[in-house]
Amino acid sequence: MKFTIAIDLGGTIIKIGLMKEGQLCDRMEITARSASGLKTQLPELQAAIDKILINNHLSSNDILGIGFSFAGLVDSSKNRIVSTNQKYDDGPETDLVGWAKSNWDLPLFAENDARMALLGEWKHGAGQGCENLVMVTLGTGIGSAVLIEGKLLKGKHFQAGNLGGHFTVNHLGKICTCGNVGCMESEASTWRLPELIRYNPGYEASSLKNEALADFEALFRNAQNGDHLALEILDHCYSVWSAGLISMIHAFDPEIILLSGGIMKSADVFLPELQHRINQYAWTPWGKVQLIAAKNISNSALFGADYLVRSLMEL
Ligand SMILES: [Zn+2]
Repeated sequence: MKFTIAIDLGGTIIKIGLMKEGQLCDRMEITARSASGLKTQLPELQAAIDKILINNHLSSNDILGIGFSFAGLVDSSKNRIVSTNQKYDDGPETDLVGWAKSNWDLPLFAENDARMALLGEWKHGAGQGCENLVMVTLGTGIGSAVLIEGKLLKGKHFQAGNLGGHFTVNHLGKICTCGNVGCMESEASTWRLPELIRYNPGYEASSLKNEALADFEALFRNAQNGDHLALEILDHCYSVWSAGLISMIHAFDPEIILLSGGIMKSADVFLPELQHRINQYAWTPWGKVQLIAAKNISNSALFGADYLVRSLMEL
């Protein structure tokens, strides 16, 4: 059994995993410069992969292939990036397959990062044994992916299931980075949160004013201490997230929704509240959709990339 190389290209961190039979054998992180594009980052990524191979006394002959997880829309039939949203915007002009071939003579398989994370959790994490699930990553933005009857939902243009964060939850809302109005992501995500906090009339009187970082960790902490503005904004976020998740439930008919992303540090607080709202409002006569925290929050996409390579190379 050979190894695989798994790459997870996020907006702030690039993770590289050396994998074998679903095990993470070695791991490296490099700082992402996603605003500067993809091509400028490839030499550094190449050096990191070479270093992992040398450190583990391996050559490219020991590697089955490379799984490439990307924060954007991906055509997984051609292993090309289709569309980006303010991260690695030269991605569609970058020949990743050619890059892997010329450097290591290895095949490369690309997929959207939420789909990779879903595959990782389905095969090695909290989604094991479930054939109908939705994965939602609550981070800087909001990503999603869908598995129906054991198959990844992709669609004609490879975007089906990936745009859950851009479901409209407020038709009178803010313009999103995607061009739509009132997306789940533009109404309540890490990139929007500082504006929600600092432009609120209650900001001057709020304990949030003392926070250096206007992030969800600060929001949850101040809400727990009873700050009125933090409680008000948190309630708004719960409403937005539950509206988005209920639309995903109505669209995709999952048994469970796996939640992942940076915000999961506060999962013990928000999961029960979101579950309560979903139980109240979702139309699911067969039972209740369970919200479950992902198991391998920082490595799901690496496990998914390994599974994707092995399933495509060995079948
Ligand atoms: Zn949007």
